[in-house]
Amino acid sequence: MKKKQLEIMLERLEGFSKPSFIREQYSTPASVAAEILFLAALRNDLGTVCDLGCGTGVLAIGAALMGARAVGVEIDKDALATARRNAERLGLDVDFIRADVRKLELEGIDTVIMNPPFGAQKASEGDRAFLSTAQRIARNIYTLHNRGSHDFIKKYIFPSVVQEVYCIPFPLKRCFEFHSKDIKVIEVELYRITCQHS
Ligand code: SAH
Repeated sequence: MKKKQLEIMLERLEGFSKPSFIREQYSTPASVAAEILFLAALRNDLGTVCDLGCGTGVLAIGAALMGARAVGVEIDKDALATARRNAERLGLDVDFIRADVRKLELEGIDTVIMNPPFGAQKASEGDRAFLSTAQRIARNIYTLHNRGSHDFIKKYIFPSVVQEVYCIPFPLKRCFEFHSKDIKVIEVELYRITCQHS
């Protein structure tokens, strides 16, 4: 599959019906998801993939479209129902699990691909819990963060190692009322981490 084809398929997925501001529910734009998945494919990291906080399933479904065995984990019942519908419509077999990422136990995961809550909102514990779980269950992690997170991530994940950092343009659509413009492009950072299990 070409990157553009993947992007078009992901673009058509159903998004959050009532995005929760507190849970920082924001779908990964199709262009960003396709970029991440192609990077992971290039590095042979798409074996068994787990999407932590999968929302409506963009990353998990994208991984499945690229031939991975995919698992999506999400706490929000409504988002999970949408994710299941999205996969079904494409005839994909993705394992969607309702669970709190903080308490997740899973075995046999090669790679976690995630767009975790950035921790900008107080009520969410942000990216720390997601990073901890990802490290616990996988061998590789692809994770999106705000710009300037490198020092924090490097320290937080030690002894695991950041192998690569990519800057990715991230088109933010207007979805919460206080955003004034319709689309604003920000830059986010994608980290590729290899996990060191103690
Ligand atoms: N990965 C999706 C959604 C990103 S938004 C995408 O790329 O489009 C972050 C998601 O994490 C939200 O759907 C939110 O409900 C979920 N989430 C937040 N805290 C969680 C937790 N503790 N356990 C599981 N999911 C959680």
